[in-house]
Amino acid sequence: MQKRLTLLGSTGSIGDSTLDVVARHPDRFSVYALTAHRNGDKLIAQCLRFTPEVAVVGDADTAARVAAALKAEGCKTEVNYGVDALVDVARASQCDTVVAAIVGAAGLAPTLAAARAGKRILLANKEALVMSGQIFMDAVRDNGAVLLPVDSEHNAVFQCLPPCADKEAKLHDGVSKIILTASGGPFRTCEPSTLVDMTADEACKHPNWAMGRKISVDSATMMNKGLEVIEAHWLFELPGSRIEVLIHPQSVIHSMVSYADGSVLAQLGNPDMRTPIAHALAFPDRVDSGVAPLDLAQIAQLTFEKPDFKRFPCLALAIQALESSGIAGAALNAANEIAVEAFLARRIGFMAIGEVVERVLNALPNRSAAALDDVLAADARARCLASGFVKELIASAPGVQPIAH
Ligand code: NDP
Repeated sequence: MQKRLTLLGSTGSIGDSTLDVVARHPDRFSVYALTAHRNGDKLIAQCLRFTPEVAVVGDADTAARVAAALKAEGCKTEVNYGVDALVDVARASQCDTVVAAIVGAAGLAPTLAAARAGKRILLANKEALVMSGQIFMDAVRDNGAVLLPVDSEHNAVFQCLPPCADKEAKLHDGVSKIILTASGGPFRTCEPSTLVDMTADEACKHPNWAMGRKISVDSATMMNKGLEVIEAHWLFELPGSRIEVLIHPQSVIHSMVSYADGSVLAQLGNPDMRTPIAHALAFPDRVDSGVAPLDLAQIAQLTFEKPDFKRFPCLALAIQALESSGIAGAALNAANEIAVEAFLARRIGFMAIGEVVERVLNALPNRSAAALDDVLAADARARCLASGFVKELIASAPGVQPIAH
């Protein structure tokens, strides 16, 4: 049966890769809704090509502009805007599959709505799970939603785990640990003393993956791997002590599962997000993703090393947040979003990202995250604290020039 998709964040890097796979299989997939935030031009082009019933943007002006352009071309897509409109397309009865590819905390409301509506969710937006882990997983279970990981590491782990025979079966029977691989990002081998001067463009120059700017900076600080450890904890019901991070600079092994009998299963492939996206879209079938076959003879060498927690303090902070549990994940994520935004705008330096996150975690008393309101309050408080710390850092380093927006 054809799957009908809502693609949240269609104008981003994951959005592009998803539409590339969708376009290869018009018999299997069709598009119900596409969403963007401000990139109206790209959304217009996507709507003209995929003719969704609904398109959503962030504000009224962009919505009016997109609607006028589509009407002029004879395209009947309805254009809405705002968070409520995102939630509506995520839970609409006209779609069965929701690709959650909005970046950051903005993805939480529609992704949670999809879980509550019992959708098949292809999860790229790890921040939603980091913020609200237990609440999100409860919503998935209680409403019969299906969660398929798109993040390449989690998709790899999913592929290496034994099939879950029934809902009560323990997914991790016989599993001793999960090994999440990490490229180490663009600054893995540089002299640590040079990190302080690294620019946003240098941080976004990932050696293996082409991604949006926020996750690229997260990869450079290795906060991304820390967020992924938390994501793996929730997805696979394993404690942090059984989730290992291993640097693997070639990004060919996307992650591994280690079993009690000594077996280690790995998933390999070229570093291209269309592979995990195609896997999750078609699961349990396998379809062409457009990704070139892996040529191991040409790659010749796969190497591994342990992460350097001193060079990458953000990785340690994320693991600390997982151990603290409660609202710590939401606080970590919010502080990181504010710090990364400030770094991308050249308001603070690269090493200040970890400093801001650490100060927020230390300043915010931890408490349980039993309800969504607890999570949202922690998110708001952490953003406020982080913005204050960013201002302090700017005041103490007046030489840094912000980029004009
Ligand atoms: P991009 O920055 O490339 O795209 C983000 C998307 O979210 C765009 O469509 C953007 O719209 C939309 N968006 C941004 N802000 C808002 C908002 N406030 N409200 C609604 N929509 C918004 O990000 P990526 O595609 O790289 O990443 C998306 C998610 O997937 C992230 O959570 C990331 O961690 C995860 N991920 C990404 C991978 C990758 O390879 N890129 C790999 C694994 C996970 P607009 O274009 O209009 O701004």
